[in-house]
Amino acid sequence: MTGAQKPRVAVHKFSSCDGCQLAFLNLGENLLTLAGRVELVHFAEAGPLDPESEVDIAFVEGSVSTSEDLERIQHIRAHSRLLIAIGACATSGGIQALRNGVFDAGWVTQIYSHPEAIASLERSTPIASHVKVDFELWGCPVSGPQIVAVVNALLLGVAPRDNVDKVCTECKRQGHPCVMVTRGIACMGPVTRAGCGALCPGLGRDCYGCYGPAENANTDALAAQFKSLGLTPRAVVHRFQSINSQAPAFLAAADTIRRRGDD
Ligand code: SF4
Ligand code: SF4
Ligand code: SF4
Repeated sequence: MTGAQKPRVAVHKFSSCDGCQLAFLNLGENLLTLAGRVELVHFAEAGPLDPESEVDIAFVEGSVSTSEDLERIQHIRAHSRLLIAIGACATSGGIQALRNGVFDAGWVTQIYSHPEAIASLERSTPIASHVKVDFELWGCPVSGPQIVAVVNALLLGVAPRDNVDKVCTECKRQGHPCVMVTRGIACMGPVTRAGCGALCPGLGRDCYGCYGPAENANTDALAAQFKSLGLTPRAVVHRFQSINSQAPAFLAAADTIRRRGDD
């Protein structure tokens, strides 16, 4: 990229639901501003199609779940100056990673009328398991304001801010009543990475951890708290084994509960 050229940007889809790409499309006026500042080379949801091109910034949604994904991510990495993984699928393997470790080929036969057409790998894995990732945006889906902040930072040539605080900090700052303290509802906010603006507690419900683990997440303490609220060990495991089941801190929390033999 020379000074006169606009940065070339691509948005790629892997195994995913497209929800994080929609977060881009839902940027509204910000998307129009962004479109004026960059050259959008590839973004199938929005129109431009050129997945093979060299780009300055590649946003990647989705997990690596097929052998074709394995090849494609290598190609994208080799042709992108910066690669940004967006969303839980890309950062932890996503909901489709629930099959990891328990995959049974018999399920495919039971579910699909043409199982021979299914080419899934046994494991769904995050982008960083395969190539160098320059920045990760967590969430299911990622939030629009976070996308804007990351793009602005990259266009200014500075490192985007990685928010590793807990949802509780955003929740308290906004003055939401704590659903766990006031109503005894099991909330994942104390171990979940901030960035959504404490969306769920703001609507009177618990956080279910869609932003993945925060830094220094005390999962042991939260598991004990969930138990004191009446959750069975199995129910506690299920709280950690959800959208970000393969994120190391949540995987370790579930394994610890299982190892104790409670599950
Ligand atoms: S992280 Fe969630 S919203 Fe984004 S693509 Fe994956 S399933 Fe969809
Ligand atoms: S409602 Fe959840 S996120 Fe908010 S303070 Fe309580 S535990 Fe934390
Ligand atoms: S409160 Fe929790 S579950 Fe709700 S959007 Fe935020 S991180 Fe996701």
